[in-house]
Amino acid sequence: MNNNEEKLNNLRHSCAHLLAAAVMELWPDSKRTIGPAIESGFYYDFEFAEPIAEEDLPKIEKKMAEILPAWDHFEHREITESEAKELFKENPYKLELISEIVEKKEPITIYTAGKFDDLCRGGHSENPAKDIGAFKLLSIAGAYWKGSEKNKMLTRIYGTAFPTEQELDKHLWQLEEAKKRDHRKLGKELGIFAVSDEVGQGLILWLPNGTIIKEELENWGKDIERRWGYKRVSTPNITKSGLYYTSGHLPYYKEDMYPPMIVDKNEEYYLKPMNCPHHHMIYKAESKSYKDLPFRLAEFGTCYRYEASGQLYGLMRVRGFTQNDAHIYTTLDQAVDEFVSVMKLHEYYYQALGITEYHLELGLRDPKNTKKCHGDEKMWELAEKLTREAAKRTGIKMVEVLGNAAFYGPKIDFIIHSAIGREFAISTNQIDMYMGPRFNLKYTDPEGKDQIPVIIHRAPLGSDERFIGFLIEHFGGAFPTWLAPVQVQIIPIADRHQKYAQIVLEQLKDSSTRVEVDNRQETMQSKIRDAQNQKIPYMIILGDREEKDSMIAVRTRAGENLGAIPIKEFLEKIKLEVESKV
Ligand SMILES: [Zn+2]
Ligand SMILES: [Zn+2]
Repeated sequence: MNNNEEKLNNLRHSCAHLLAAAVMELWPDSKRTIGPAIESGFYYDFEFAEPIAEEDLPKIEKKMAEILPAWDHFEHREITESEAKELFKENPYKLELISEIVEKKEPITIYTAGKFDDLCRGGHSENPAKDIGAFKLLSIAGAYWKGSEKNKMLTRIYGTAFPTEQELDKHLWQLEEAKKRDHRKLGKELGIFAVSDEVGQGLILWLPNGTIIKEELENWGKDIERRWGYKRVSTPNITKSGLYYTSGHLPYYKEDMYPPMIVDKNEEYYLKPMNCPHHHMIYKAESKSYKDLPFRLAEFGTCYRYEASGQLYGLMRVRGFTQNDAHIYTTLDQAVDEFVSVMKLHEYYYQALGITEYHLELGLRDPKNTKKCHGDEKMWELAEKLTREAAKRTGIKMVEVLGNAAFYGPKIDFIIHSAIGREFAISTNQIDMYMGPRFNLKYTDPEGKDQIPVIIHRAPLGSDERFIGFLIEHFGGAFPTWLAPVQVQIIPIADRHQKYAQIVLEQLKDSSTRVEVDNRQETMQSKIRDAQNQKIPYMIILGDREEKDSMIAVRTRAGENLGAIPIKEFLEKIKLEVESKV
Protein backbone atom coordinates (compact mmCIF):
# COMPACT_ATOMS: atom_id res chain seq x y z
CA MET A 1 0.00 0.00 0.00
CA ASN A 2 1.38 3.45 -0.82
CA ASN A 3 0.99 6.50 1.35
CA ASN A 4 -2.17 7.82 -0.26
CA GLU A 5 -3.90 4.46 -0.20
CA GLU A 6 -3.05 4.07 3.47
CA LYS A 7 -4.45 7.52 4.24
CA LEU A 8 -7.67 6.73 2.40
CA ASN A 9 -7.94 3.38 4.20
CA ASN A 10 -7.51 5.08 7.56
CA LEU A 11 -10.13 7.65 6.66
CA ARG A 12 -12.60 4.92 5.69
CA HIS A 13 -11.93 2.78 8.71
CA SER A 14 -12.48 5.88 10.88
CA CYS A 15 -15.78 6.38 9.09
CA ALA A 16 -16.71 2.79 10.01
CA HIS A 17 -16.23 3.77 13.67
CA LEU A 18 -18.46 6.78 13.02
CA LEU A 19 -21.13 4.53 11.52
CA ALA A 20 -21.01 2.26 14.59
CA ALA A 21 -21.26 5.27 16.91
CA ALA A 22 -24.36 6.51 15.07
CA VAL A 23 -26.00 3.08 15.06
CA MET A 24 -25.36 2.64 18.79
CA GLU A 25 -27.01 5.97 19.50
CA LEU A 26 -30.03 5.20 17.36
CA TRP A 27 -30.36 1.51 18.35
CA PRO A 28 -28.74 1.23 21.80
CA ASP A 29 -29.64 -2.46 22.13
CA SER A 30 -27.91 -3.47 18.86
CA LYS A 31 -24.55 -5.23 19.02
CA ARG A 32 -21.60 -4.07 16.97
CA THR A 33 -18.96 -6.50 15.69
CA ILE A 34 -16.26 -5.46 13.20
CA GLY A 35 -15.87 -2.62 10.68
CA PRO A 36 -12.89 -2.67 8.31
CA ALA A 37 -12.00 -0.49 5.34
CA ILE A 38 -12.40 -2.33 2.01
CA GLU A 39 -11.30 -1.61 -1.54
CA SER A 40 -13.77 1.14 -2.33
CA GLY A 41 -15.12 2.04 1.09
CA PHE A 42 -15.92 0.35 4.39
CA TYR A 43 -18.54 -1.71 6.17
CA TYR A 44 -19.63 -2.48 9.70
CA ASP A 45 -21.50 -5.62 10.82
CA PHE A 46 -24.21 -5.40 13.49
CA GLU A 47 -26.73 -7.59 15.20
CA PHE A 48 -29.96 -5.61 15.37
CA ALA A 49 -32.84 -6.52 17.69
CA GLU A 50 -35.27 -5.56 14.91
CA PRO A 51 -34.30 -5.69 11.24
CA ILE A 52 -33.45 -2.36 9.63
CA ALA A 53 -33.90 -1.39 5.96
CA GLU A 54 -32.19 0.76 3.35
CA GLU A 55 -34.75 3.46 4.18
CA ASP A 56 -32.98 3.80 7.54
CA LEU A 57 -29.67 4.75 5.94
CA PRO A 58 -30.37 8.52 5.60
CA LYS A 59 -31.28 8.63 9.29
CA ILE A 60 -27.94 6.99 10.18
CA GLU A 61 -26.06 9.36 7.87
CA LYS A 62 -27.71 12.32 9.59
CA LYS A 63 -26.64 11.03 12.99
CA MET A 64 -23.10 10.45 11.70
CA ALA A 65 -22.93 14.04 10.47
CA GLU A 66 -24.07 15.23 13.93
CA ILE A 67 -21.38 13.24 15.72
CA LEU A 68 -18.45 13.90 13.38
CA PRO A 69 -17.54 17.53 14.30
CA ALA A 70 -16.53 16.44 17.84
CA TRP A 71 -14.19 13.74 16.53
CA ASP A 72 -10.99 15.74 16.25
CA HIS A 73 -8.72 12.82 17.16
CA PHE A 74 -8.59 9.16 18.21
CA GLU A 75 -7.20 8.37 21.61
CA HIS A 76 -6.01 4.88 22.36
CA ARG A 77 -5.26 2.97 25.53
CA GLU A 78 -4.26 -0.54 26.33
CA ILE A 79 -6.55 -2.32 28.78
CA THR A 80 -6.45 -5.60 30.66
CA GLU A 81 -8.47 -8.66 29.77
CA SER A 82 -10.83 -8.18 32.71
CA GLU A 83 -11.37 -4.50 31.90
CA ALA A 84 -12.13 -5.42 28.31
CA LYS A 85 -14.56 -8.15 29.33
CA GLU A 86 -16.32 -5.76 31.67
CA LEU A 87 -16.55 -3.07 28.97
CA PHE A 88 -18.10 -5.44 26.42
CA LYS A 89 -19.98 -7.76 28.76
CA GLU A 90 -23.21 -7.27 26.79
CA ASN A 91 -21.59 -8.12 23.47
CA PRO A 92 -20.72 -11.80 22.81
CA TYR A 93 -18.98 -10.91 19.50
CA LYS A 94 -16.52 -8.54 21.11
CA LEU A 95 -15.99 -11.07 23.92
CA GLU A 96 -15.06 -13.66 21.33
CA LEU A 97 -12.60 -11.23 19.71
CA ILE A 98 -11.09 -10.38 23.12
CA SER A 99 -10.50 -14.09 23.84
CA GLU A 100 -8.75 -14.45 20.49
CA ILE A 101 -6.51 -11.45 21.18
CA VAL A 102 -5.63 -12.88 24.58
CA GLU A 103 -4.86 -16.27 23.05
CA LYS A 104 -2.49 -14.64 20.57
CA LYS A 105 -0.90 -12.76 23.48
CA GLU A 106 -1.49 -9.44 21.72
CA PRO A 107 -2.30 -6.19 23.51
CA ILE A 108 -5.98 -5.28 23.87
CA THR A 109 -6.42 -1.72 22.64
CA ILE A 110 -9.40 0.58 22.83
CA TYR A 111 -9.74 3.54 20.47
CA THR A 112 -11.91 6.44 21.49
CA ALA A 113 -13.21 9.28 19.38
CA GLY A 114 -15.66 11.72 20.93
CA LYS A 115 -17.68 9.63 23.37
CA PHE A 116 -17.36 6.40 21.40
CA ASP A 117 -15.10 3.50 22.39
CA ASP A 118 -14.27 0.56 20.20
CA LEU A 119 -12.04 -2.46 20.40
CA CYS A 120 -9.57 -1.94 17.58
CA ARG A 121 -6.06 -2.55 16.35
CA GLY A 122 -5.63 0.96 14.96
CA GLY A 123 -5.26 2.57 11.55
CA HIS A 124 -7.29 5.80 11.82
CA SER A 125 -7.25 9.33 10.49
CA GLU A 126 -5.41 11.82 12.65
CA ASN A 127 -8.33 14.21 12.68
CA PRO A 128 -11.53 12.53 11.43
CA ALA A 129 -13.57 15.74 11.65
CA LYS A 130 -11.19 17.37 9.22
CA ASP A 131 -10.11 14.37 7.15
CA ILE A 132 -13.50 12.80 6.40
CA GLY A 133 -14.68 15.31 3.84
CA ALA A 134 -17.66 13.34 2.56
CA PHE A 135 -19.30 9.99 3.21
CA LYS A 136 -22.28 8.00 2.03
CA LEU A 137 -23.96 4.80 3.17
CA LEU A 138 -24.62 2.63 0.14
CA SER A 139 -26.40 -0.59 0.98
CA ILE A 140 -27.40 -3.25 3.47
CA ALA A 141 -26.63 -6.96 3.15
CA GLY A 142 -26.71 -10.09 5.26
CA ALA A 143 -23.32 -11.42 6.37
CA TYR A 144 -22.51 -14.36 8.62
CA TRP A 145 -20.40 -13.67 11.68
CA LYS A 146 -16.86 -14.50 10.62
CA GLY A 147 -18.11 -15.50 7.17
CA SER A 148 -19.28 -18.93 8.34
CA GLU A 149 -22.82 -20.07 7.66
CA LYS A 150 -22.74 -21.98 10.93
CA ASN A 151 -22.78 -18.62 12.68
CA LYS A 152 -25.49 -16.05 13.12
CA MET A 153 -26.47 -13.85 10.18
CA LEU A 154 -25.60 -10.25 10.88
CA THR A 155 -26.57 -7.01 9.13
CA ARG A 156 -23.76 -5.44 7.14
CA ILE A 157 -23.96 -1.75 6.30
CA TYR A 158 -21.73 -0.68 3.40
CA GLY A 159 -20.54 2.85 2.90
CA THR A 160 -17.79 4.88 1.35
CA ALA A 161 -15.89 8.01 2.29
CA PHE A 162 -13.51 10.48 0.67
CA PRO A 163 -11.46 13.53 1.59
CA THR A 164 -13.73 15.76 -0.54
CA GLU A 165 -17.31 16.01 -1.72
CA GLN A 166 -16.08 16.09 -5.33
CA GLU A 167 -14.30 12.75 -5.03
CA LEU A 168 -17.38 11.18 -3.46
CA ASP A 169 -19.60 12.51 -6.25
CA LYS A 170 -17.23 11.11 -8.87
CA HIS A 171 -17.20 7.74 -7.15
CA LEU A 172 -21.01 7.61 -6.92
CA TRP A 173 -21.27 8.50 -10.60
CA GLN A 174 -18.78 5.74 -11.39
CA LEU A 175 -20.80 3.21 -9.40
CA GLU A 176 -23.97 4.22 -11.23
CA GLU A 177 -22.24 4.08 -14.64
CA ALA A 178 -20.53 0.78 -13.80
CA LYS A 179 -23.94 -0.75 -13.10
CA LYS A 180 -25.26 0.46 -16.46
CA ARG A 181 -22.13 -0.69 -18.27
CA ASP A 182 -21.76 -4.07 -16.53
CA HIS A 183 -20.53 -6.35 -19.31
CA ARG A 184 -22.67 -9.25 -18.05
CA LYS A 185 -25.83 -7.15 -18.31
CA LEU A 186 -24.94 -5.54 -21.67
CA GLY A 187 -23.53 -8.83 -22.97
CA LYS A 188 -26.99 -10.29 -22.63
CA GLU A 189 -28.99 -7.27 -23.83
CA LEU A 190 -26.80 -6.85 -26.91
CA GLY A 191 -26.63 -10.57 -27.76
CA ILE A 192 -22.87 -10.81 -27.27
CA PHE A 193 -22.27 -13.91 -25.16
CA ALA A 194 -23.91 -16.61 -23.07
CA VAL A 195 -22.81 -19.25 -20.58
CA SER A 196 -24.65 -22.52 -20.28
CA ASP A 197 -24.56 -24.97 -17.39
CA GLU A 198 -24.85 -27.79 -19.89
CA VAL A 199 -21.62 -26.70 -21.57
CA GLY A 200 -19.81 -25.76 -18.39
CA GLN A 201 -19.26 -22.73 -16.20
CA GLY A 202 -16.60 -20.33 -17.40
CA LEU A 203 -16.82 -21.58 -20.99
CA ILE A 204 -18.01 -18.73 -23.17
CA LEU A 205 -20.53 -19.19 -25.97
CA TRP A 206 -20.08 -16.32 -28.39
CA LEU A 207 -23.48 -15.34 -29.86
CA PRO A 208 -23.61 -13.99 -33.44
CA ASN A 209 -23.11 -10.35 -32.36
CA GLY A 210 -20.22 -11.26 -30.08
CA THR A 211 -18.61 -13.37 -32.76
CA ILE A 212 -18.53 -10.36 -35.08
CA ILE A 213 -16.72 -8.31 -32.44
CA LYS A 214 -14.31 -11.18 -31.70
CA GLU A 215 -13.51 -11.73 -35.36
CA GLU A 216 -13.12 -8.02 -36.12
CA LEU A 217 -10.72 -7.71 -33.21
CA GLU A 218 -8.73 -10.76 -34.29
CA ASN A 219 -8.57 -9.62 -37.91
CA TRP A 220 -7.31 -6.24 -36.78
CA GLY A 221 -4.67 -7.88 -34.56
CA LYS A 222 -3.56 -10.13 -37.42
CA ASP A 223 -3.29 -7.22 -39.84
CA ILE A 224 -1.30 -5.04 -37.41
CA GLU A 225 0.99 -7.89 -36.38
CA ARG A 226 1.72 -8.68 -40.03
CA ARG A 227 2.82 -5.07 -40.48
CA TRP A 228 4.93 -5.29 -37.31
CA GLY A 229 6.81 -8.32 -38.61
CA TYR A 230 5.08 -11.25 -36.95
CA LYS A 231 4.57 -14.68 -38.57
CA ARG A 232 1.33 -16.48 -37.83
CA VAL A 233 1.21 -20.06 -36.57
CA SER A 234 -1.45 -22.46 -35.37
CA THR A 235 -1.13 -25.11 -32.67
CA PRO A 236 -3.34 -27.90 -31.21
CA ASN A 237 -5.46 -27.54 -28.06
CA ILE A 238 -4.17 -30.69 -26.36
CA THR A 239 -0.67 -31.91 -25.67
CA LYS A 240 1.23 -34.73 -24.01
CA SER A 241 2.25 -34.07 -20.44
CA GLY A 242 6.00 -34.29 -21.17
CA LEU A 243 5.97 -30.85 -22.77
CA TYR A 244 4.76 -29.28 -19.53
CA TYR A 245 7.35 -31.11 -17.46
CA THR A 246 9.95 -29.58 -19.76
CA SER A 247 8.48 -26.11 -19.26
CA GLY A 248 8.15 -26.63 -15.50
CA HIS A 249 4.39 -25.98 -15.55
CA LEU A 250 3.99 -29.55 -14.35
CA PRO A 251 3.88 -30.21 -11.50
CA TYR A 252 4.10 -26.55 -10.44
CA TYR A 253 1.00 -25.30 -12.28
CA LYS A 254 -1.06 -28.49 -12.08
CA GLU A 255 -3.90 -27.23 -9.90
CA ASP A 256 -4.69 -24.54 -12.47
CA MET A 257 -4.97 -27.06 -15.30
CA TYR A 258 -7.86 -29.33 -16.26
CA PRO A 259 -7.10 -32.91 -15.23
CA PRO A 260 -5.36 -35.02 -17.88
CA MET A 261 -6.94 -37.35 -20.41
CA ILE A 262 -5.34 -40.77 -20.29
CA VAL A 263 -5.21 -42.53 -23.66
CA ASP A 264 -3.63 -45.82 -24.74
CA LYS A 265 -0.20 -46.80 -23.44
CA ASN A 266 -1.01 -44.60 -20.46
CA GLU A 267 -0.15 -41.46 -22.33
CA GLU A 268 -1.37 -38.33 -20.58
CA TYR A 269 -2.76 -35.44 -22.59
CA TYR A 270 -3.57 -32.03 -21.16
CA LEU A 271 -5.70 -29.21 -22.47
CA LYS A 272 -3.15 -26.50 -23.01
CA PRO A 273 -3.11 -23.78 -20.33
CA MET A 274 -0.74 -21.59 -22.37
CA ASN A 275 0.70 -21.43 -25.86
CA CYS A 276 4.38 -20.88 -25.07
CA PRO A 277 5.68 -24.49 -25.18
CA HIS A 278 4.03 -25.07 -28.56
CA HIS A 279 5.64 -21.98 -30.01
CA HIS A 280 9.01 -23.12 -28.67
CA MET A 281 8.50 -26.41 -30.52
CA ILE A 282 7.76 -24.45 -33.71
CA TYR A 283 10.95 -22.46 -33.18
CA LYS A 284 12.82 -25.74 -32.84
CA ALA A 285 11.24 -27.36 -35.89
CA GLU A 286 13.70 -25.56 -38.21
CA SER A 287 17.28 -24.53 -37.47
CA LYS A 288 17.90 -20.83 -36.84
CA SER A 289 20.78 -18.45 -37.37
CA TYR A 290 21.25 -14.95 -35.95
CA LYS A 291 19.93 -13.66 -39.26
CA ASP A 292 16.50 -15.11 -38.45
CA LEU A 293 16.20 -13.14 -35.22
CA PRO A 294 14.11 -11.45 -33.91
CA PHE A 295 11.81 -14.33 -34.82
CA ARG A 296 8.21 -13.44 -33.99
CA LEU A 297 5.51 -16.13 -33.80
CA ALA A 298 1.91 -15.05 -33.28
CA GLU A 299 -1.30 -16.96 -32.70
CA PHE A 300 -4.78 -16.31 -31.40
CA GLY A 301 -4.33 -19.42 -29.26
CA THR A 302 -7.10 -21.01 -27.24
CA CYS A 303 -6.17 -22.11 -23.71
CA TYR A 304 -7.98 -23.71 -20.77
CA ARG A 305 -7.40 -23.12 -17.09
CA TYR A 306 -9.36 -24.60 -14.26
CA GLU A 307 -10.26 -21.47 -12.29
CA ALA A 308 -12.11 -22.09 -9.02
CA SER A 309 -15.86 -21.71 -9.58
CA GLY A 310 -16.05 -18.89 -7.02
CA GLN A 311 -13.52 -16.94 -9.08
CA LEU A 312 -15.47 -17.10 -12.34
CA TYR A 313 -16.86 -13.73 -13.40
CA GLY A 314 -18.57 -13.01 -16.73
CA LEU A 315 -15.98 -12.59 -19.46
CA MET A 316 -13.32 -11.44 -17.03
CA ARG A 317 -12.55 -14.74 -15.31
CA VAL A 318 -13.21 -17.77 -17.46
CA ARG A 319 -12.00 -21.32 -17.94
CA GLY A 320 -11.49 -21.22 -21.71
CA PHE A 321 -10.09 -18.22 -23.57
CA THR A 322 -8.34 -17.18 -26.75
CA GLN A 323 -5.17 -15.17 -26.29
CA ASN A 324 -3.67 -12.55 -28.58
CA ASP A 325 -0.42 -14.38 -27.99
CA ALA A 326 3.07 -14.17 -29.48
CA HIS A 327 6.58 -15.22 -28.60
CA ILE A 328 9.58 -13.37 -29.89
CA TYR A 329 12.98 -15.05 -29.97
CA THR A 330 15.86 -12.56 -29.89
CA THR A 331 19.57 -12.30 -29.21
CA LEU A 332 20.49 -10.85 -25.83
CA ASP A 333 21.44 -7.57 -27.55
CA GLN A 334 18.07 -7.22 -29.25
CA ALA A 335 15.92 -8.05 -26.23
CA VAL A 336 15.43 -4.56 -24.80
CA ASP A 337 14.68 -2.91 -28.17
CA GLU A 338 12.24 -5.65 -28.98
CA PHE A 339 10.53 -5.39 -25.61
CA VAL A 340 10.20 -1.62 -26.02
CA SER A 341 8.64 -2.24 -29.41
CA VAL A 342 6.14 -4.66 -27.82
CA MET A 343 5.10 -1.92 -25.42
CA LYS A 344 4.81 0.57 -28.31
CA LEU A 345 2.47 -1.92 -29.99
CA HIS A 346 0.28 -1.85 -26.88
CA GLU A 347 0.14 1.92 -27.11
CA TYR A 348 -0.71 1.74 -30.78
CA TYR A 349 -3.74 -0.47 -30.05
CA TYR A 350 -4.84 1.62 -27.08
CA GLN A 351 -4.64 4.85 -29.04
CA ALA A 352 -6.77 3.39 -31.82
CA LEU A 353 -9.40 2.37 -29.25
CA GLY A 354 -9.37 5.70 -27.44
CA ILE A 355 -7.84 4.23 -24.27
CA THR A 356 -5.84 7.12 -22.89
CA GLU A 357 -5.22 6.07 -19.28
CA TYR A 358 -2.94 3.12 -18.53
CA HIS A 359 0.09 2.20 -16.50
CA LEU A 360 2.56 -0.63 -16.03
CA GLU A 361 2.86 -2.99 -13.13
CA LEU A 362 6.31 -4.50 -12.84
CA GLY A 363 5.97 -7.89 -11.10
CA LEU A 364 9.19 -8.76 -9.28
CA ARG A 365 10.08 -11.75 -7.15
CA ASP A 366 9.95 -11.18 -3.43
CA PRO A 367 13.58 -11.53 -2.28
CA LYS A 368 12.30 -12.84 1.05
CA ASN A 369 10.28 -15.58 -0.58
CA THR A 370 12.01 -17.07 -3.61
CA LYS A 371 10.77 -20.63 -3.03
CA LYS A 372 8.51 -20.52 -6.06
CA CYS A 373 11.08 -18.89 -8.34
CA HIS A 374 12.94 -21.19 -10.70
CA GLY A 375 16.33 -20.45 -12.27
CA ASP A 376 19.49 -18.98 -10.80
CA GLU A 377 20.22 -15.65 -9.22
CA LYS A 378 22.22 -14.31 -12.16
CA MET A 379 19.40 -15.01 -14.60
CA TRP A 380 16.86 -13.21 -12.39
CA GLU A 381 19.08 -10.21 -11.95
CA LEU A 382 19.71 -9.85 -15.66
CA ALA A 383 16.04 -10.38 -16.57
CA GLU A 384 15.04 -7.73 -14.03
CA LYS A 385 17.61 -5.30 -15.31
CA LEU A 386 16.52 -5.68 -18.94
CA THR A 387 12.81 -5.51 -18.08
CA ARG A 388 13.23 -2.38 -16.01
CA GLU A 389 15.39 -0.74 -18.66
CA ALA A 390 12.79 -1.40 -21.36
CA ALA A 391 9.92 -0.17 -19.18
CA LYS A 392 11.83 3.01 -18.36
CA ARG A 393 12.50 3.71 -22.01
CA THR A 394 8.77 3.71 -22.83
CA GLY A 395 8.19 6.53 -20.36
CA ILE A 396 4.91 4.93 -19.26
CA LYS A 397 4.04 5.29 -15.58
CA MET A 398 5.08 2.21 -13.63
CA VAL A 399 4.55 0.70 -10.18
CA GLU A 400 6.58 -2.21 -8.81
CA VAL A 401 4.91 -5.12 -7.04
CA LEU A 402 7.10 -7.51 -5.06
CA GLY A 403 6.13 -11.16 -5.18
CA ASN A 404 4.20 -10.76 -8.44
CA ALA A 405 6.74 -12.32 -10.81
CA ALA A 406 6.04 -15.46 -12.83
CA PHE A 407 7.88 -18.53 -11.60
CA TYR A 408 10.42 -18.17 -14.41
CA GLY A 409 10.96 -14.42 -14.52
CA PRO A 410 9.76 -10.88 -13.82
CA LYS A 411 6.73 -9.64 -15.75
CA ILE A 412 5.08 -6.44 -16.85
CA ASP A 413 1.31 -6.12 -16.76
CA PHE A 414 -0.53 -3.38 -18.59
CA ILE A 415 -3.34 -1.95 -16.47
CA ILE A 416 -5.81 0.01 -18.57
CA HIS A 417 -8.53 2.33 -17.32
CA SER A 418 -11.98 2.31 -18.87
CA ALA A 419 -13.88 5.46 -19.82
CA ILE A 420 -15.34 5.62 -16.30
CA GLY A 421 -12.02 4.98 -14.60
CA ARG A 422 -12.28 1.29 -13.70
CA GLU A 423 -8.96 -0.53 -13.91
CA PHE A 424 -8.42 -3.77 -15.78
CA ALA A 425 -5.25 -5.89 -15.94
CA ILE A 426 -5.23 -6.85 -19.58
CA SER A 427 -1.91 -8.16 -20.80
CA THR A 428 1.20 -9.76 -19.38
CA ASN A 429 4.64 -9.41 -20.95
CA GLN A 430 7.96 -10.96 -20.11
CA ILE A 431 11.61 -11.10 -20.99
CA ASP A 432 12.28 -14.76 -20.33
CA MET A 433 15.78 -16.22 -20.01
CA TYR A 434 14.61 -19.42 -18.36
CA MET A 435 12.72 -21.35 -21.04
CA GLY A 436 15.39 -21.06 -23.76
CA PRO A 437 17.80 -23.45 -22.04
CA ARG A 438 14.92 -25.64 -20.70
CA PHE A 439 13.73 -26.27 -24.25
CA ASN A 440 17.24 -26.43 -25.64
CA LEU A 441 16.51 -23.61 -28.09
CA LYS A 442 19.43 -22.43 -30.22
CA TYR A 443 20.61 -20.23 -33.01
CA THR A 444 24.03 -20.00 -34.61
CA ASP A 445 25.90 -16.72 -34.15
CA PRO A 446 28.11 -15.07 -36.85
CA GLU A 447 31.02 -17.28 -35.74
CA GLY A 448 28.93 -20.38 -36.30
CA LYS A 449 28.65 -21.11 -32.56
CA ASP A 450 25.40 -22.14 -30.84
CA GLN A 451 23.69 -19.51 -28.72
CA ILE A 452 20.48 -19.53 -26.65
CA PRO A 453 17.79 -16.99 -27.62
CA VAL A 454 15.97 -14.76 -25.14
CA ILE A 455 12.18 -15.21 -25.32
CA ILE A 456 9.69 -12.37 -25.09
CA HIS A 457 6.09 -13.29 -24.15
CA ARG A 458 3.44 -10.74 -25.00
CA ALA A 459 -0.33 -10.35 -25.50
CA PRO A 460 -1.31 -6.70 -26.04
CA LEU A 461 -5.00 -7.46 -26.56
CA GLY A 462 -4.99 -9.98 -23.71
CA SER A 463 -7.61 -12.64 -24.29
CA ASP A 464 -10.62 -12.03 -26.52
CA GLU A 465 -12.83 -12.73 -23.52
CA ARG A 466 -11.37 -10.23 -21.08
CA PHE A 467 -10.64 -7.61 -23.71
CA ILE A 468 -14.16 -7.66 -25.10
CA GLY A 469 -15.49 -7.59 -21.53
CA PHE A 470 -13.40 -4.47 -21.04
CA LEU A 471 -14.51 -2.94 -24.35
CA ILE A 472 -18.19 -3.48 -23.51
CA GLU A 473 -17.73 -1.50 -20.29
CA HIS A 474 -15.40 1.07 -21.86
CA PHE A 475 -17.84 1.90 -24.66
CA GLY A 476 -20.94 1.20 -22.59
CA GLY A 477 -22.00 -1.13 -25.43
CA ALA A 478 -21.84 1.68 -28.02
CA PHE A 479 -19.02 0.19 -30.07
CA PRO A 480 -17.29 2.26 -32.73
CA THR A 481 -18.69 1.52 -36.18
CA TRP A 482 -15.89 -0.87 -37.18
CA LEU A 483 -16.67 -3.13 -34.20
CA ALA A 484 -20.45 -2.69 -34.04
CA PRO A 485 -22.19 -6.01 -34.75
CA VAL A 486 -24.93 -4.20 -36.69
CA GLN A 487 -23.68 -0.96 -38.21
CA VAL A 488 -26.85 0.26 -39.87
CA GLN A 489 -30.54 -0.35 -39.14
CA ILE A 490 -32.95 0.42 -41.97
CA ILE A 491 -36.32 1.62 -40.77
CA PRO A 492 -39.11 1.81 -43.40
CA ILE A 493 -41.82 4.19 -42.16
CA ALA A 494 -44.73 2.22 -43.64
CA ASP A 495 -45.31 -1.10 -45.41
CA ARG A 496 -45.23 0.59 -48.80
CA HIS A 497 -41.58 1.51 -48.22
CA GLN A 498 -40.46 -2.12 -47.84
CA LYS A 499 -39.48 -2.44 -51.47
CA TYR A 500 -37.26 0.61 -51.39
CA ALA A 501 -35.80 -0.65 -48.10
CA GLN A 502 -34.76 -3.87 -49.88
CA ILE A 503 -32.99 -1.89 -52.62
CA VAL A 504 -31.08 0.16 -50.02
CA LEU A 505 -30.30 -3.03 -48.06
CA GLU A 506 -28.76 -4.75 -51.08
CA GLN A 507 -26.57 -1.76 -51.89
CA LEU A 508 -25.25 -1.54 -48.33
CA LYS A 509 -24.66 -5.29 -48.18
CA ASP A 510 -22.71 -5.17 -51.43
CA SER A 511 -20.31 -2.73 -49.83
CA SER A 512 -19.73 -5.08 -46.85
CA THR A 513 -21.77 -3.01 -44.42
CA ARG A 514 -23.41 -4.97 -41.59
CA VAL A 515 -27.01 -3.92 -42.07
CA GLU A 516 -30.49 -5.07 -41.09
CA VAL A 517 -34.05 -3.99 -41.91
CA ASP A 518 -36.59 -3.56 -39.13
CA ASN A 519 -39.72 -5.02 -40.76
CA ARG A 520 -41.83 -5.22 -37.62
CA GLN A 521 -45.30 -3.70 -37.42
CA GLU A 522 -44.13 -1.02 -35.00
CA THR A 523 -44.19 2.74 -35.13
CA MET A 524 -41.16 4.50 -36.51
CA GLN A 525 -40.52 6.00 -33.06
CA SER A 526 -40.38 2.65 -31.32
CA LYS A 527 -38.14 1.23 -34.07
CA ILE A 528 -35.77 4.15 -33.60
CA ARG A 529 -35.81 3.66 -29.84
CA ASP A 530 -35.04 -0.05 -30.17
CA ALA A 531 -32.15 0.61 -32.55
CA GLN A 532 -30.81 3.16 -30.10
CA ASN A 533 -31.10 0.65 -27.23
CA GLN A 534 -29.17 -1.84 -29.34
CA LYS A 535 -26.55 0.94 -29.76
CA ILE A 536 -26.59 0.61 -33.55
CA PRO A 537 -24.44 3.48 -34.89
CA TYR A 538 -26.71 4.51 -37.79
CA MET A 539 -30.39 4.40 -38.65
CA ILE A 540 -31.71 4.96 -42.14
CA ILE A 541 -35.31 6.16 -42.17
CA LEU A 542 -37.16 5.59 -45.45
CA GLY A 543 -40.44 7.28 -46.34
CA ASP A 544 -42.23 8.69 -49.41
CA ARG A 545 -39.90 11.63 -49.87
CA GLU A 546 -36.71 9.59 -49.61
CA GLU A 547 -38.06 7.04 -52.08
CA LYS A 548 -39.15 9.70 -54.58
CA ASP A 549 -35.75 11.49 -54.45
CA SER A 550 -33.70 8.23 -54.25
CA MET A 551 -32.18 9.48 -51.03
CA ILE A 552 -31.83 8.12 -47.49
CA ALA A 553 -32.49 9.98 -44.22
CA VAL A 554 -29.74 9.19 -41.72
CA ARG A 555 -29.79 9.43 -37.93
CA THR A 556 -27.07 8.50 -35.44
CA ARG A 557 -27.59 6.54 -32.22
CA ALA A 558 -26.77 9.74 -30.32
CA GLY A 559 -29.88 11.30 -31.89
CA GLU A 560 -28.08 13.48 -34.41
CA ASN A 561 -30.00 13.98 -37.65
CA LEU A 562 -27.80 13.97 -40.76
CA GLY A 563 -30.74 14.71 -43.07
CA ALA A 564 -31.39 13.21 -46.49
CA ILE A 565 -28.27 12.21 -48.41
CA PRO A 566 -27.50 10.00 -51.44
CA ILE A 567 -26.63 6.37 -50.58
CA LYS A 568 -23.22 6.79 -52.18
CA GLU A 569 -22.32 9.63 -49.86
CA PHE A 570 -23.33 7.57 -46.82
CA LEU A 571 -21.30 4.58 -48.01
CA GLU A 572 -18.21 6.72 -48.34
CA LYS A 573 -18.69 8.15 -44.89
CA ILE A 574 -19.07 4.73 -43.28
CA LYS A 575 -16.14 3.28 -45.22
CA LEU A 576 -13.88 6.05 -43.98
CA GLU A 577 -15.10 5.57 -40.43
CA VAL A 578 -14.48 1.81 -40.50
CA GLU A 579 -11.02 2.16 -42.01
CA SER A 580 -9.88 4.84 -39.60
CA LYS A 581 -11.47 3.00 -36.66
CA VAL A 582 -12.87 6.18 -35.11
ZN1 LIG B 1 -10.42 1.29 14.40
ZN1 LIG C 1 4.15 -17.26 -23.32
